[in-house]
Amino acid sequence: MPRQLNLNREEMPRQDAKTRGKNFREVALGYSPEKAKAEASRCINCPKSLCTLGCPVNVDIRDFIKSLQEGNMPEAVKALKRKNALPGICGRVCPQETQCEQVCVLAKRGAPVAIGRLERFVADWEREQAEAPALTPPPPTGKKIAIVGSGPAGLTAAADLAKLGHSVTIFESLHTAGGVLMYGIPEFRLPKEIVQNEVNYVASLGVKIELDSVVGKLVTVDELLNNGFDAVFLGTGAGLPMFLNVPGENLNGVYSANEFLTRVNLMKAYCFPEYDTPVKIGKTAAVIGGGNVAMDSARCALRLGTEKVYVIYRRSRTEMPARREELENAEEEGIEFKFLTNPKQFIGNERGTLVAMECYEMQLGEPDNTGRRSPIVKPGSEFKIEIDSAIVALGTTPNPMIAQTSAGLETTGHGTVVADPATGKTGKPKVWAGGDVLTGAATVISAMGAGKRAAADIDKFLRS
Ligand SMILES: Cc1cc2nc3c(=O)[nH]c(=O)nc-3n(C[C@H](O)[C@H](O)[C@H](O)COP(=O)(O)OP(=O)(O)OC[C@H]3O[C@@H](n4cnc5c(N)ncnc54)[C@H](O)[C@@H]3O)c2cc1C
Ligand code: SF4
Repeated sequence: MPRQLNLNREEMPRQDAKTRGKNFREVALGYSPEKAKAEASRCINCPKSLCTLGCPVNVDIRDFIKSLQEGNMPEAVKALKRKNALPGICGRVCPQETQCEQVCVLAKRGAPVAIGRLERFVADWEREQAEAPALTPPPPTGKKIAIVGSGPAGLTAAADLAKLGHSVTIFESLHTAGGVLMYGIPEFRLPKEIVQNEVNYVASLGVKIELDSVVGKLVTVDELLNNGFDAVFLGTGAGLPMFLNVPGENLNGVYSANEFLTRVNLMKAYCFPEYDTPVKIGKTAAVIGGGNVAMDSARCALRLGTEKVYVIYRRSRTEMPARREELENAEEEGIEFKFLTNPKQFIGNERGTLVAMECYEMQLGEPDNTGRRSPIVKPGSEFKIEIDSAIVALGTTPNPMIAQTSAGLETTGHGTVVADPATGKTGKPKVWAGGDVLTGAATVISAMGAGKRAAADIDKFLRS
């Protein structure tokens, strides 16, 4: 008899909108074992699991869910970690709705299996166990690889290369490893403890992590290659903020999202004076942008005690690039969206402090090269909003330092490194690159996919 499909997914409990708007604790609370088992039982274990094909790192989704159905947690962990060294992170922040879950066969008739939530459940179960499973070290190859940057691209490349027996050292410019996972994505979406745990797992594979080590200043890529490293992988991300280039952008009270989020998340401004990083936000804040970074900035501003937070976006709600879940979370928390609006200038007082922003109303024209309808200024539509702080979240480009100090490394006009997208191999001998430094700001899982492809190609090169 054909199996009856269950087309409704198990809901995951969350902190209610009023409470969570006042604290930095995680919003989504995770499945209980009963809910996880019930959700896993919806999977029909398709022989041709499309979900795996929809995942940029091809996680063996059917296998880990099957182990969950059987109640075999150690096997679920093993199946999940075969391809993914950072499951607790991916289970929380990957856009599953446009990847594995979008192609799940159940999505044709109802709600797809909640793959991300199950991934999180398995990773959290493993973290809570007293003893991590013992790892058998692979035979050493004697080859040394330097990874520059400890974001998801660098961590994934490092884990894969270490599992193959190479000696791997990560050089990270900040005092904490994890890249955007640590300094960008806020605690209430991705607790630092989860990131640290997965960084520790990568270190447990034998990877050395050198913090406070800026490649391009402390040591150059060529010096690494001349001093015993057989290959270098650049996973340096895209950490340089873009600005609006309108009058008043350098007033006190105007922040780039990078600076704001780094102060709040990495340096724990929300714990001031316990941590000595104050961030002045005032009573009314405006965040300019429509992506995940804008949603995170707005929700952090709210949690710092601002009375009113606006998100200013020049297109309509439909074109917003932020994940739907995060947009809805922000709306529920009381953030006010001003769509089809764009800043004309920031206005300051005599002391150079921001007091207002003048905006244009916009309308949508023909689609541009991103396929989205382009915003056009409505003439004579200017209006003012009084604000105490503004956070500009318009996107980022790679920092030029590595390219400027590495002869022969080609970059595009946008500052991204030029490399073969299939392997990450750059035109500079023995140098690979992947993640945001190659693509510009993208996603955690695409950076991980790039780290994996580069690791496979580096291994092939070192063994040839
Ligand atoms: C606020 C925010 C929210 C986001 N939300 C999501 C989300 O919900 N889901 C999602 O999938 N993606 C999200 N993203 C995007 C995602 O985080 C990035 O695409 C991803 O982190 C890129 O990984 P990466 O390894 O290429 O670079 P990064 O994570 O940027 O890591 C690069 C690392 O390299 C280090 N570095 C740079 N230069 C040097 C140097 N010269 N020497 C040594 N170290 C160096 C940096 O300090 C950093 O640690 C978000 C991004 C931001 C900013
Ligand atoms: S496509 Fe959906 S139902 Fe099929 S194996 Fe993957 S998660 Fe299970």
